[in-house]
Amino acid sequence: MSNIAVEHAPSGLVRTSVVAREAISPHVVRVTLGGGDLPLFEFKGFDQWFRLAIPVHDADRFDNLPSTFALGGYLRYLALPKATRPEIRNYTARAWRASPARLDIDFLQHGDHGVAGPWAATVEPGAEVALIDQGCGWKDPGADWRLLAGDETAMPAIAGILRDMPRDAVGHAFIELFDARDRQPLDAPDAVRVHWLERSPGAAPGDALLPAVRALEFPPGRVYAFAAGESAIAAGVRRHLVSERDVPKNDVTFCSYWKRSATVHA
Ligand SMILES: Cc1cc2nc3c(=O)[nH]c(=O)nc-3n(C[C@H](O)[C@H](O)[C@H](O)COP(=O)(O)OP(=O)(O)OC[C@H]3O[C@@H](n4cnc5c(N)ncnc54)[C@H](O)[C@@H]3O)c2cc1C
Repeated sequence: MSNIAVEHAPSGLVRTSVVAREAISPHVVRVTLGGGDLPLFEFKGFDQWFRLAIPVHDADRFDNLPSTFALGGYLRYLALPKATRPEIRNYTARAWRASPARLDIDFLQHGDHGVAGPWAATVEPGAEVALIDQGCGWKDPGADWRLLAGDETAMPAIAGILRDMPRDAVGHAFIELFDARDRQPLDAPDAVRVHWLERSPGAAPGDALLPAVRALEFPPGRVYAFAAGESAIAAGVRRHLVSERDVPKNDVTFCSYWKRSATVHA
C-alpha cells in the first residue's frame, strides 16, 4: 500500500559487497556497502530506497538478476532457479560517502524471523549483495509546512528527509519507536519539531503516533505529508489527513514498509 511512483535509475543492477557492520543501538545494525559497481549508484538523498538482493544460499548468483524491478524484471527474477536466487527486500539509503563510494543501510532488528534482519545481524565483510535503485518518495510540492510520520523502519527515511530538506523548512516529525534507546541524532531544520514517541510494550504500531498526530494543532497554510512504516501508521496518518483535515490526497506521500503479523510482535 503506497502511492510512491518508482523511478528506474540508469544505474540498473548495482553489484557490491559488505565492507562493515556495526550495531549502532540495541535494535539497529548499520551495514556499510562498498566496492564493485557502487560508484555507479546515484545518491539522491531524502528517503531514497532500493531493492536489496540478499544471499540466502551458498551458491546464490547476482550476475543474472534483472536491472529493474518493474513487472518484467520481477517476472524474470521469479523465473530464476530458486537454489541460486537471492531474496529481495526493500531498504533506504541511510547515508552516502563519495570517495571511496560507501553506502550505509540501517537494518531494524525485529527478531529471528525473515531474511534481511537476521542476515544483517551476523553478516561479515566480503559478503556479496546487489541493489536496484527505486528513487525517492518525497516529492515536496513547495508546501508551507511539512509533516513526517513513521516508525523505527522509517527512521532512516525521516532522518534523510530532515537532513536534505531546506534549512528554512518548518514542520513536525513524529517518530514512534518500540525502544527509546534506538533514537538517533537527527540533522533537522531548526523550525521542524521532532516528536520522539515510544509505543507501549506489545501495543500495535501507531499506538503512540496516531493520537499524537490527531492532537497536533496544525500550523497555517498548505501541508505536505510523508507517512511510512508499519501499515497501520501509513494508512492511519493518511486517512486522518485526508478525511479529517481535508488535506488533498496528492499532498500525502505514504508507504506501508512492513505489515505486523498475528504471530510476530515488535
Ligand atoms: C520503501 C521501503 C524502505 C524501507 N527501508 C527500511 C530501512 O531502511 N530499514 C529497515 O529496517 N526497514 C526498512 N523497510 C522495511 C523492511 O523492508 C521490512 O521490515 C522487511 O519486511 C524486512 O525484511 P525481513 O527479511 O527482515 O523480514 P520478512 O521476511 O519480510 O518478514 C518476516 C516476519 O517479520 C515481520 N517483520 C518484518 N519487518 C518487521 C519489523 N520492522 N518489525 C517487526 N516485525 C517485522 C513480518 O511481519 C514477518 O512476520 C523498508 C520498506 C520499504 C517498503
